[in-house]
Amino acid sequence: MIFDPLYWLVIGAGVVMSLAAQALVKSRFAHYSKLATRSGMTGAEIARRILADNGIRDVSVEPVRGHLSDHYDPRTKTLRLSEPVFYGSSMAAFGIAAHEVGHAVQDARGYAPLRFRSAWVPVANTGSGLSMFVIIAAFFMGGAATAMGSVAAWAGIALFATTTVFTLVTLPVEFDASRRALACLEGRYVTAEEHAGAKKVLDAAAMTYVAAFATSLLTLFYWAMQLGLLGGRDD
Ligand SMILES: [Zn+2]
Repeated sequence: MIFDPLYWLVIGAGVVMSLAAQALVKSRFAHYSKLATRSGMTGAEIARRILADNGIRDVSVEPVRGHLSDHYDPRTKTLRLSEPVFYGSSMAAFGIAAHEVGHAVQDARGYAPLRFRSAWVPVANTGSGLSMFVIIAAFFMGGAATAMGSVAAWAGIALFATTTVFTLVTLPVEFDASRRALACLEGRYVTAEEHAGAKKVLDAAAMTYVAAFATSLLTLFYWAMQLGLLGGRDD
């Protein structure tokens, strides 16, 4: 499998998609973080206002080190914004701050995909840790061509699929957070032009999650094919 050109094609396609999406996020963030908003509020202020608009009072907003390290931590109910977002008042800062508030709103409202994703984390971690051992064992047993190999092959694929499911359920969580963010900003805190700028940044960020899912799905199909689980074999 190490010398299989198809393997490198699959992995290469995933890497290219992920790097392209990350490059797009970086360039859009760089561009829209130079464009100031008319209100002049900081990302932290916008986040606190939108939290209050949604009746959320138990979430704190803090700065965090790093570039694009913004996230919402549901365990401690903390919204951590990277310094350019926390202190910044650009279109990019507004978009990202509002997006992270979107996750806090999902948490407060018990948004089902977010709850599922949180519960799925340990399953996906275990699945990804074991899948390679089981897939390699399945190869040694002859894959789908033997009874034992077939069982091991399906088990390995099922274990790997736990990570594909994780990347899949991440999509509604991320798209919904951005949708909520843009709806909260619209008409109240930003002009139409600023709204469009924030959307450009969030759309680019969404592409990284789409790339992660596509990569995982491609890899899953690759292993299933190599193990003989997907047709193409005459037995
Ligand atoms: Zn997010």
